[in-house]
Amino acid sequence: MLVDSHCHLDRLKLGDRSLAQAIEAAAERGVSHLLCIAISSQNVEAVLSIAGQYPQVSASVGAHPLDVEEGAITREQLLALTRRPHVVAVGETGLDYYYTEDTKAIQRESFAMHLDVAGQAGLPVVVHTRDARKDTLDLIEQYGRHDSAGVLHCFTEDVAMARSAMDMGYYISLSGIVTFRNADALREVAEYVPMDRLLVETDSPYLAPVPFRGKPNEPQYVREVAEFLADLKRLSFEAFAQKTTENFYRLFNRAERTV
Ligand SMILES: [Zn+2]
Ligand SMILES: [Zn+2]
Repeated sequence: MLVDSHCHLDRLKLGDRSLAQAIEAAAERGVSHLLCIAISSQNVEAVLSIAGQYPQVSASVGAHPLDVEEGAITREQLLALTRRPHVVAVGETGLDYYYTEDTKAIQRESFAMHLDVAGQAGLPVVVHTRDARKDTLDLIEQYGRHDSAGVLHCFTEDVAMARSAMDMGYYISLSGIVTFRNADALREVAEYVPMDRLLVETDSPYLAPVPFRGKPNEPQYVREVAEFLADLKRLSFEAFAQKTTENFYRLFNRAERTV
């Protein structure tokens, strides 16, 4: 009864295990739905093919802000991709000024286009944002649609940004980072976000939660993220899992219920 709202199943580092085994391991730990995220024109078909193989996997389509040059997707391509089977969201898109300032303009252009196409397709948006608070919020306000808003995934910004995004209908998704020892500011955000706006994710294969920090992450570890946050929110694990799962299906309302 848990959902991993953001994972990169085509990039997991599984050693000699298969993807089917990783998805089964997740199911055994109560993770019964996974949203597999595309990052560029180069991996979108792999993501769609995985979603086609497993009933509990949904897909998003889009180009990550750090892939907008080599992995760019045109407006026409994106619109066509939104109509493919198993697609429940547009993204990940957004702005990331942490790694590079060089591509700011092209990132903004791509983000605006993704927001616009998502509105046209009636799909929610999976937004990646880092060190770009004002521009992210401005573009959502300008090009986003409140009735098919989206999620700020792997959220690492502050309470003020979370509040502004929620005011525009957005959800906040937390990853294993919230379990890290130095993440007090993020735990403050976690306490602030109301239970009807919170999602959980792994962002696997990156950012494994404590006690797996530094190891390759995989969807089953969303359980550790959820257990940690349930404690923080002073809820039972079951109540926390149920709330965040309801949130997922409310936002991604085209996802097939496999929980
Ligand atoms: Zn991301
Ligand atoms: Zn991601």
